[in-house]
Amino acid sequence: MAQKEENLMEKIVSLAKRRGFVYPSSEIYGGFAGFWNYGHYGAILKENIKSLWKQRFVFDREDMFVTDTSIISNPKVLEASGHVSNFGNEIFKTQVGTGEDTVTTHLRAETAQGIFVDFKNVVDTHHPKLPFGVAQIGKAFRNEISPRDFIFRQREFEQMEVEYFIKPNDWEKYFETWREAMSNFAKEIGIHAHEFEVPEDDRAHYSKRTIDFQFDYPFGRGELWGLAYRTDFDLKNHNLDYIDEEVGERMVPHVIEPSLGVDRTLLAVMASAYQEDDLGGEKRVYLKFPKIIAPIRAAVFPLLKNKPELVSKAREVYSMLKKDLPNIEFDDNGNIGKRYRRQDEIGTPYCVTIDFDTLEDNTVTVRDRDSGEQKRVKIENLKEEIV
Ligand code: ATP
Repeated sequence: MAQKEENLMEKIVSLAKRRGFVYPSSEIYGGFAGFWNYGHYGAILKENIKSLWKQRFVFDREDMFVTDTSIISNPKVLEASGHVSNFGNEIFKTQVGTGEDTVTTHLRAETAQGIFVDFKNVVDTHHPKLPFGVAQIGKAFRNEISPRDFIFRQREFEQMEVEYFIKPNDWEKYFETWREAMSNFAKEIGIHAHEFEVPEDDRAHYSKRTIDFQFDYPFGRGELWGLAYRTDFDLKNHNLDYIDEEVGERMVPHVIEPSLGVDRTLLAVMASAYQEDDLGGEKRVYLKFPKIIAPIRAAVFPLLKNKPELVSKAREVYSMLKKDLPNIEFDDNGNIGKRYRRQDEIGTPYCVTIDFDTLEDNTVTVRDRDSGEQKRVKIENLKEEIV
């Protein structure tokens, strides 16, 4: 079993490189431990994961604001937040400025602090009533002692975080709301997550409750995301408060924090999607991405590359689909079998082939990635077929 799972990791790493999802950083110079680059399909997949998160965690709600704060901040921010003592050697030191004006500070280890530090700005600008939340997607840096397991533990990674500000008595209710939102998000992107109630001894000292969402990675079960009730710890550290206009009193809001790592999510999505089967007597590998995050929604092929009438019809269909659907690819390389194999490996749900019959009856072949089944569809109905 352990052997098989180890192989799975190797297979994913090799597919990720071969097909342009993830490359080792600085590869031509021997790589650099803890750093990775996303290639064409990986970068699109990552973008799709982030925009779905933003849709579900921000735009589908009415109580959320978005922010995008700086990675490097005044050193006082990290002192006040307890980061220097919390993350210790694990934060990257950096120098800002030159000569006598040089300031030593650190790269942020989580996106959360930018949100807390801007709390007053958000309140002054938008005058939100409690509860409300602020969301941020951005890079975080930790000088991990042993970066490992592909993109699971990196030194530079990305987070999608929400700080949700509440009245203290409401914490259980909103903890539950966010637990459910995270669990639904996992399902929507095809991940089976396990919820783990973190015991008091293992929680950060300021957290009254934490749930880790864990995933069975090929190397074993590990943390995917965290959900924490951070009490009033952060706002108090920064001496920030809020006037509750309903009762005309100053108070310090409490915080529920759903924190999701983008890279771990992408790894879990790839591991969950990875499939091998026999199709038409041939072994194949495919990534069974949910349509909503697949890097390419459909690929359009002319059956033969050297028949101008097929190529121009295929280009016409391709342009038509591109108008309304995300990421449609045109492919006329190699033979049709090779194109299917390539699209299977990048997880494209549909392949659309234009052949000689198309020129007669305006129908195309649509092949379903998961079953390999093909059917004829009228061009006028094609969009609904793959939407
Ligand atoms: P771990 O215990 O695995 O080190 P953590 O508890 O320190 O993780 P948090 O501080 O809760 O992680 O960070 C929130 C999220 O950021 C994690 O759930 C994870 O998805 C992601 N994350 C944290 N550290 C890394 C890392 N080194 N590489 C990639 N993602 C990370």
